Amino acid sequence: MSELVIEGLHASVVGREILRGVDLRVGSGEVHALMGPNGSGKSTLSHVLAGRPGYEVTAGSVRLDGVELLGLPVWERAQAGLFLALQYPIEVPGVSVYDALGESMEAAGRERRQVRELVGAEARRIGVDEAVLSRPLNVDLSGGERKRNEILQLAVLQPRVAVLDEIDSGLDIDALKAVARRVAELAAESGIGVLAITHYQRLLSVLAADKVHVLAAGRVVETGGPELALELERTGYAAYGGDQEEAAEPAARLPRPLV
Ligand code: ADP
Ligand code: MG
Repeated sequence: MSELVIEGLHASVVGREILRGVDLRVGSGEVHALMGPNGSGKSTLSHVLAGRPGYEVTAGSVRLDGVELLGLPVWERAQAGLFLALQYPIEVPGVSVYDALGESMEAAGRERRQVRELVGAEARRIGVDEAVLSRPLNVDLSGGERKRNEILQLAVLQPRVAVLDEIDSGLDIDALKAVARRVAELAAESGIGVLAITHYQRLLSVLAADKVHVLAAGRVVETGGPELALELERTGYAAYGGDQEEAAEPAARLPRPLV
Protein backbone atom coordinates (compact mmCIF):
# COMPACT_ATOMS: atom_id res chain seq x y z
CA MET A 1 0.00 0.00 0.00
CA SER A 2 1.24 3.45 -0.94
CA GLU A 3 -0.06 6.81 0.17
CA LEU A 4 0.56 10.39 -0.88
CA VAL A 5 -0.15 12.67 2.05
CA ILE A 6 -0.38 16.42 1.53
CA GLU A 7 -0.71 18.38 4.76
CA GLY A 8 -1.17 22.09 5.37
CA LEU A 9 0.49 22.97 2.08
CA HIS A 10 1.03 26.68 1.49
CA ALA A 11 2.81 27.97 -1.60
CA SER A 12 3.43 31.30 -3.27
CA VAL A 13 4.21 32.34 -6.81
CA VAL A 14 6.01 35.63 -7.40
CA GLY A 15 5.20 36.70 -3.87
CA ARG A 16 1.47 35.94 -3.99
CA GLU A 17 0.11 33.09 -1.88
CA ILE A 18 -1.82 30.68 -4.11
CA LEU A 19 -2.07 27.52 -2.00
CA ARG A 20 -3.38 28.30 1.45
CA GLY A 21 -3.39 25.08 3.39
CA VAL A 22 -4.11 22.11 1.12
CA ASP A 23 -4.81 18.75 2.76
CA LEU A 24 -5.25 15.63 0.62
CA ARG A 25 -4.51 11.92 0.87
CA VAL A 26 -4.37 9.57 -2.09
CA GLY A 27 -3.88 5.86 -1.46
CA SER A 28 -2.98 2.97 -3.77
CA GLY A 29 -5.61 2.19 -6.37
CA GLU A 30 -7.78 5.14 -5.36
CA VAL A 31 -9.02 7.68 -7.88
CA HIS A 32 -9.47 11.22 -6.58
CA ALA A 33 -10.82 14.02 -8.73
CA LEU A 34 -9.74 17.58 -7.98
CA MET A 35 -12.09 20.18 -9.39
CA GLY A 36 -12.46 23.91 -8.82
CA PRO A 37 -12.82 27.27 -10.51
CA ASN A 38 -10.24 28.68 -12.90
CA GLY A 39 -7.38 30.20 -10.97
CA SER A 40 -8.10 28.33 -7.73
CA GLY A 41 -4.61 26.81 -7.67
CA LYS A 42 -5.05 23.34 -9.19
CA SER A 43 -2.12 23.58 -11.61
CA THR A 44 -0.07 25.37 -8.96
CA LEU A 45 -0.56 22.30 -6.77
CA SER A 46 0.68 20.01 -9.54
CA HIS A 47 3.73 22.24 -10.12
CA VAL A 48 4.52 22.36 -6.42
CA LEU A 49 4.24 18.56 -6.22
CA ALA A 50 6.58 18.30 -9.21
CA GLY A 51 9.07 20.71 -7.66
CA ARG A 52 8.98 23.23 -10.46
CA PRO A 53 11.29 26.20 -9.79
CA GLY A 54 9.55 29.49 -9.01
CA TYR A 55 6.94 27.98 -6.70
CA GLU A 56 7.87 28.72 -3.13
CA VAL A 57 6.54 26.40 -0.46
CA THR A 58 6.04 28.36 2.74
CA ALA A 59 4.50 25.68 4.97
CA GLY A 60 3.29 22.11 5.02
CA SER A 61 4.47 18.72 3.89
CA VAL A 62 4.08 16.28 1.00
CA ARG A 63 5.01 12.71 1.87
CA LEU A 64 4.94 9.63 -0.31
CA ASP A 65 5.13 6.51 1.81
CA GLY A 66 6.74 8.51 4.55
CA VAL A 67 9.36 10.17 2.31
CA GLU A 68 9.20 13.97 2.40
CA LEU A 69 9.16 15.12 -1.23
CA LEU A 70 9.41 18.87 -0.67
CA GLY A 71 13.00 19.93 -1.14
CA LEU A 72 13.89 16.93 -3.30
CA PRO A 73 14.90 17.54 -6.91
CA VAL A 74 12.37 16.57 -9.58
CA TRP A 75 14.07 13.30 -10.51
CA GLU A 76 14.19 12.10 -6.90
CA ARG A 77 10.46 12.73 -6.58
CA ALA A 78 9.96 10.60 -9.68
CA GLN A 79 12.18 7.92 -8.21
CA ALA A 80 10.15 7.98 -5.02
CA GLY A 81 7.16 7.01 -7.18
CA LEU A 82 5.43 10.26 -8.12
CA PHE A 83 4.31 10.87 -11.71
CA LEU A 84 3.03 14.18 -13.06
CA ALA A 85 1.18 14.76 -16.30
CA LEU A 86 1.25 18.50 -16.87
CA GLN A 87 -1.70 20.50 -18.20
CA TYR A 88 0.62 21.70 -20.99
CA PRO A 89 3.11 18.89 -21.69
CA ILE A 90 6.46 20.39 -22.57
CA GLU A 91 8.47 19.82 -25.72
CA VAL A 92 11.83 18.11 -25.33
CA PRO A 93 13.73 18.53 -28.59
CA GLY A 94 16.27 15.84 -29.35
CA VAL A 95 14.80 13.27 -26.95
CA SER A 96 12.37 10.58 -28.11
CA VAL A 97 9.85 8.87 -25.88
CA TYR A 98 12.07 5.78 -26.05
CA ASP A 99 15.08 7.75 -24.77
CA ALA A 100 13.10 9.36 -21.97
CA LEU A 101 11.44 6.16 -20.82
CA GLY A 102 14.61 4.10 -21.27
CA GLU A 103 16.49 6.46 -18.94
CA SER A 104 13.68 6.42 -16.39
CA MET A 105 13.43 2.65 -16.43
CA GLU A 106 17.15 2.28 -15.97
CA ALA A 107 17.09 4.73 -13.07
CA ALA A 108 14.35 2.60 -11.50
CA GLY A 109 16.49 -0.52 -11.83
CA ARG A 110 14.48 -1.97 -14.72
CA GLU A 111 15.70 -3.48 -17.98
CA ARG A 112 16.19 -0.69 -20.47
CA ARG A 113 16.03 -3.00 -23.48
CA GLN A 114 12.39 -3.79 -22.73
CA VAL A 115 11.42 -0.21 -23.51
CA ARG A 116 10.59 -0.69 -27.21
CA GLU A 117 8.34 -3.64 -26.56
CA LEU A 118 6.53 -1.98 -23.63
CA VAL A 119 6.06 1.31 -25.46
CA GLY A 120 4.88 -0.48 -28.62
CA ALA A 121 2.29 -2.51 -26.74
CA GLU A 122 1.03 0.50 -24.84
CA ALA A 123 0.89 2.65 -27.98
CA ARG A 124 -1.34 0.11 -29.70
CA ARG A 125 -3.53 -0.02 -26.64
CA ILE A 126 -4.25 3.69 -26.41
CA GLY A 127 -3.87 4.57 -30.08
CA VAL A 128 -0.57 6.39 -30.28
CA ASP A 129 0.84 6.41 -33.81
CA GLU A 130 4.21 4.80 -34.55
CA ALA A 131 5.23 8.08 -36.24
CA VAL A 132 4.61 9.97 -32.99
CA LEU A 133 6.88 7.64 -31.03
CA SER A 134 9.92 8.28 -33.16
CA ARG A 135 9.59 12.06 -33.01
CA PRO A 136 11.21 14.20 -30.30
CA LEU A 137 9.05 14.20 -27.17
CA ASN A 138 5.93 16.32 -27.72
CA VAL A 139 7.53 18.38 -30.51
CA ASP A 140 4.94 19.37 -33.12
CA LEU A 141 2.33 17.05 -31.62
CA SER A 142 -1.32 17.99 -31.36
CA GLY A 143 -2.79 18.57 -27.91
CA GLY A 144 -4.48 15.17 -28.04
CA GLU A 145 -1.31 13.36 -29.10
CA ARG A 146 0.57 14.92 -26.20
CA LYS A 147 -2.05 13.81 -23.71
CA ARG A 148 -2.00 10.23 -25.01
CA ASN A 149 1.77 10.35 -24.84
CA GLU A 150 1.56 11.25 -21.15
CA ILE A 151 -0.67 8.27 -20.45
CA LEU A 152 1.69 6.03 -22.39
CA GLN A 153 4.52 7.17 -20.12
CA LEU A 154 2.36 6.65 -17.05
CA ALA A 155 1.55 3.08 -18.10
CA VAL A 156 5.16 2.17 -18.87
CA LEU A 157 6.61 3.79 -15.73
CA GLN A 158 4.00 2.41 -13.31
CA PRO A 159 4.52 4.99 -10.54
CA ARG A 160 2.91 4.71 -7.11
CA VAL A 161 0.88 7.90 -7.46
CA ALA A 162 0.00 9.88 -10.58
CA VAL A 163 -1.18 13.49 -10.68
CA LEU A 164 -2.91 14.20 -13.99
CA ASP A 165 -3.58 17.88 -14.70
CA GLU A 166 -6.48 18.20 -17.17
CA ILE A 167 -5.58 15.03 -18.99
CA ASP A 168 -8.95 15.36 -20.75
CA SER A 169 -8.34 18.77 -22.29
CA GLY A 170 -7.86 18.74 -26.04
CA LEU A 171 -9.07 15.16 -26.48
CA ASP A 172 -11.90 14.17 -28.78
CA ILE A 173 -14.60 11.85 -27.43
CA ASP A 174 -12.92 8.61 -28.52
CA ALA A 175 -9.50 9.63 -27.26
CA LEU A 176 -11.02 10.77 -23.98
CA LYS A 177 -12.63 7.37 -23.47
CA ALA A 178 -9.45 5.48 -24.36
CA VAL A 179 -7.36 7.58 -21.99
CA ALA A 180 -9.87 7.49 -19.12
CA ARG A 181 -10.32 3.73 -19.48
CA ARG A 182 -6.57 3.13 -19.42
CA VAL A 183 -6.11 5.28 -16.30
CA ALA A 184 -8.96 3.43 -14.60
CA GLU A 185 -7.30 0.09 -15.43
CA LEU A 186 -3.95 1.28 -14.12
CA ALA A 187 -5.57 2.26 -10.83
CA ALA A 188 -7.49 -0.99 -10.53
CA GLU A 189 -4.88 -3.44 -11.81
CA SER A 190 -1.55 -1.85 -10.94
CA GLY A 191 -2.76 -0.10 -7.81
CA ILE A 192 -1.63 3.33 -8.95
CA GLY A 193 -3.16 6.11 -6.86
CA VAL A 194 -4.61 8.81 -9.12
CA LEU A 195 -5.25 12.49 -8.49
CA ALA A 196 -7.07 13.68 -11.60
CA ILE A 197 -7.51 17.43 -11.98
CA THR A 198 -10.46 18.03 -14.25
CA HIS A 199 -13.29 20.41 -15.07
CA TYR A 200 -15.55 17.80 -16.52
CA GLN A 201 -17.84 15.04 -15.40
CA ARG A 202 -17.37 13.39 -18.81
CA LEU A 203 -13.90 12.18 -17.75
CA LEU A 204 -15.31 10.81 -14.52
CA SER A 205 -18.09 8.93 -16.28
CA VAL A 206 -15.36 6.55 -17.48
CA LEU A 207 -12.70 7.12 -14.82
CA ALA A 208 -14.87 6.57 -11.75
CA ALA A 209 -13.65 8.69 -8.85
CA ASP A 210 -13.78 7.37 -5.32
CA LYS A 211 -13.65 10.92 -4.03
CA VAL A 212 -14.22 14.35 -5.53
CA HIS A 213 -12.61 17.44 -3.99
CA VAL A 214 -13.27 21.11 -4.66
CA LEU A 215 -10.29 23.46 -4.51
CA ALA A 216 -11.27 27.11 -4.12
CA ALA A 217 -8.93 30.00 -3.35
CA GLY A 218 -6.10 27.60 -2.55
CA ARG A 219 -7.92 25.27 -0.14
CA VAL A 220 -9.88 22.05 -0.39
CA VAL A 221 -13.26 23.41 0.65
CA GLU A 222 -15.40 20.36 -0.01
CA THR A 223 -14.97 16.60 -0.44
CA GLY A 224 -17.65 14.18 -1.53
CA GLY A 225 -18.38 11.14 -3.65
CA PRO A 226 -19.02 11.00 -7.41
CA GLU A 227 -22.34 12.78 -6.89
CA LEU A 228 -20.44 15.97 -6.06
CA ALA A 229 -19.07 16.15 -9.63
CA LEU A 230 -22.58 15.71 -11.03
CA GLU A 231 -23.87 18.47 -8.79
CA LEU A 232 -21.04 20.83 -9.86
CA GLU A 233 -21.93 20.14 -13.48
CA ARG A 234 -25.37 21.58 -12.74
CA THR A 235 -24.52 24.39 -10.35
CA GLY A 236 -21.01 25.50 -11.32
CA TYR A 237 -18.76 27.08 -8.74
CA ALA A 238 -20.88 30.07 -7.79
CA ALA A 239 -21.13 28.72 -4.25
CA TYR A 240 -17.33 28.73 -3.97
CA GLY A 241 -16.69 32.21 -5.32
CA GLY A 242 -16.83 31.49 -9.07
CA ASP A 243 -13.95 32.12 -11.47
CA GLN A 244 -10.95 33.20 -9.41
CA GLU A 245 -8.66 34.17 -12.24
CA GLU A 246 -10.47 37.45 -12.84
CA ALA A 247 -10.81 38.21 -9.17
CA ALA A 248 -7.13 37.65 -8.45
CA GLU A 249 -4.80 40.60 -8.52
CA PRO A 250 -2.53 40.43 -11.55
CA ALA A 251 0.87 38.91 -10.86
CA ALA A 252 3.97 38.95 -13.01
CA ARG A 253 4.19 35.71 -15.00
CA LEU A 254 7.07 33.34 -14.58
CA PRO A 255 8.50 32.26 -17.89
CA ARG A 256 7.41 28.83 -19.13
CA PRO A 257 9.85 26.10 -18.06
CA LEU A 258 12.57 25.19 -20.53
CA VAL A 259 12.87 21.56 -19.52
P1 ADP B 1 -6.00 26.58 -11.96
O1 ADP B 1 -5.12 25.51 -12.51
O2 ADP B 1 -6.81 26.17 -10.78
O3 ADP B 1 -6.85 27.21 -13.02
P2 ADP B 1 -3.49 27.96 -11.44
O4 ADP B 1 -2.87 27.12 -10.38
O5 ADP B 1 -2.97 27.80 -12.82
O6 ADP B 1 -5.07 27.75 -11.41
O7 ADP B 1 -3.36 29.48 -11.04
C1 ADP B 1 -3.70 29.98 -9.76
C2 ADP B 1 -3.28 31.43 -9.65
O8 ADP B 1 -1.86 31.50 -9.63
C3 ADP B 1 -3.74 32.29 -10.83
O9 ADP B 1 -4.13 33.55 -10.33
C4 ADP B 1 -2.50 32.39 -11.67
O10 ADP B 1 -2.48 33.57 -12.41
C5 ADP B 1 -1.40 32.34 -10.64
N1 ADP B 1 -0.19 31.71 -11.21
C6 ADP B 1 -0.03 30.38 -11.49
N2 ADP B 1 1.18 30.15 -12.02
C7 ADP B 1 1.79 31.35 -12.10
C8 ADP B 1 3.06 31.79 -12.57
N3 ADP B 1 3.93 30.93 -13.08
N4 ADP B 1 3.34 33.11 -12.49
C9 ADP B 1 2.45 33.98 -11.98
N5 ADP B 1 1.24 33.64 -11.52
C10 ADP B 1 0.91 32.36 -11.58
MG1 MG C 1 -4.86 24.60 -14.39
